[in-house]
Amino acid sequence: MRAAVTAVESPCPRPGRLAVVGLGPGSRALMAPAARLELEQAQDIIGYNTYVEMAGPFRADQVIHGSDNRCEMDRARAAFALAAEGRHVVVVSSGDPGIFAMATAVLEALEVHAEPAWHAVELAVVPGISAAQAAAARIGAPLGHDFCIISLSDNLKPWSQIVHRLELAARADLVIACYNPISRARPWQLGEALAVLRGVRDADTPVVLGRDVGRPAERVRVTTLGALDPQAVDMRTVVIVGSSQTRHFSAPEGRDWVYTPRWYPQPAEQD
Ligand code: SAH
Repeated sequence: MRAAVTAVESPCPRPGRLAVVGLGPGSRALMAPAARLELEQAQDIIGYNTYVEMAGPFRADQVIHGSDNRCEMDRARAAFALAAEGRHVVVVSSGDPGIFAMATAVLEALEVHAEPAWHAVELAVVPGISAAQAAAARIGAPLGHDFCIISLSDNLKPWSQIVHRLELAARADLVIACYNPISRARPWQLGEALAVLRGVRDADTPVVLGRDVGRPAERVRVTTLGALDPQAVDMRTVVIVGSSQTRHFSAPEGRDWVYTPRWYPQPAEQD
């Protein structure tokens, strides 16, 4: 009785929760238990249609807010607006939500566009297995030494910046995982990126193409920097370009393995 009266008199509504959740590359087996728990407890699920479908099935009492891929900031604002009303909201991203995905848009919304009530929202980011990690695991351990991830999309950064980074990453002998490698709207960028890398790295450098990793249509292939044809790549592919040390070998029964050794050849000791 007393509790009920207190609840009615309470001047502020219960603050909601907003969790930005990484679904991993596709299969449920590669989704963290913490992400599953958030999805179970969610009242509202927000995200790009494809990823919302990947995150389901949902219960009849859960509200799905699917949208197309291009309105990250609108999604982030909508998520805060619901959570500020006391709802338990989950925003879904594929892979890791902090890698070219929704966690960044949510933080940008909070820093730049926040309404006062948004700061009372309990905000959590739940990590996921990123595409490069999932693809690497399928073929061995190409990310076994220092590596970087570069998005080849020039939608949000100038192309000259991407070329500059590729050139420096290649000169630093990092393994380079390329995300957003090619699309109908960006048909020539991958070819130019490969030309930059070929200017620094040997033509026989192993390249891993991971397509739809963790999904039913998964295909992981190995080629070389010299032989890679941009036509063989699409938006659902992550392209991992080896360093000077990356090794490719076939097991006797024919399985391909790629790895980057943990060590570097030491320069000969001088006396
Ligand atoms: N947050 C995501 C990346 C989003 S950027 C993550 O951490 O994985 C989108 C790009 O990621 C795609 O163009 C593709 O290069 C890569 N990608 C995402 N999921 C993939 C998958 N299952 N298989 C292969 N590449 C994938």
